[in-house]
Amino acid sequence: MEYQTPIITRFAPSPTGYLHLGHAYSAKLAYDFAHERGGKFLLRIEDIDRGRCKMEYETAIYEDLKWIGLTWETPVRRQSDHMSDYRQALDILDKQKLLFPCFCTRKDIRREIKESGGAPHDLHSEGPPYPGICRNLTAAERQSRLSNNVPYALRLDMTKALELAKDTGLAWADLEAGEQVTNSKELEDIIGDVVLARKDIPTSYHLSVVVDDHLQEISHIIRGKDLFTATHLHRLLQFLLGYETPIYLHHDLLSDENGRRYAKRDKSKTLKFMRDTDVNPLTLLSDILL
Ligand code: GLU
Repeated sequence: MEYQTPIITRFAPSPTGYLHLGHAYSAKLAYDFAHERGGKFLLRIEDIDRGRCKMEYETAIYEDLKWIGLTWETPVRRQSDHMSDYRQALDILDKQKLLFPCFCTRKDIRREIKESGGAPHDLHSEGPPYPGICRNLTAAERQSRLSNNVPYALRLDMTKALELAKDTGLAWADLEAGEQVTNSKELEDIIGDVVLARKDIPTSYHLSVVVDDHLQEISHIIRGKDLFTATHLHRLLQFLLGYETPIYLHHDLLSDENGRRYAKRDKSKTLKFMRDTDVNPLTLLSDILL
């Protein structure tokens, strides 16, 4: 295949724990993809969540990746240094009247979903989307809470956003899964009025990842299949922010000998543990990396 634009890939871990074998796989795929095509590989530290991120984990990311033979362009972008970029993106969305402040606590959301007959769910996992409580506030109610300094998040008004995008088609391509078209129903039913700026941080994963992939001119986003649905949202955000859409490759997620996906909490599967005990992750991955 001929590549017109420079190939730029990235690995974008969050320093909230030690990297595991699945991260080594993802990083190596992105690295090899760029290097085999004369492109560049970037490392980005996704550390917006100051409460959960630790310097110790960030240091281990550099050491682990170096240890498996990867190199990357410098300087490394650390998201916590770039809050003004995310603020600018929020301004673009705000000017299109696509954001609304949400004062709800997790408890408010759970109660509303339960009362409206929805299944109770854990907000950390996939569940019914936000039930629209604050989207439906009157201007006076909203103003009163703002004046009383009630903390708020900013949510995307999904219905309005999809209305703006309706003639666009929102196509994107995955090198394995093929051509995709973002399905409005899926976005409404699964993602809904997503938080783009949290109460405690003036951005969110979804916003900052889309902004950074654009600013860093990433041509190919190589990441796990767990983010496939999120890509539909990212495609919508790219449209709303006037960005180009990169090409995607969502790879399989590795699992351990019991069929469980690797997680940062499994100490023995961390790259740091392997480094300390001299187990080479690339040997373990040699069958699938080819
Ligand atoms: N920071 C995200 C994670 O660690 C990366 C997501 C992405 O590659 O887009 O899961």
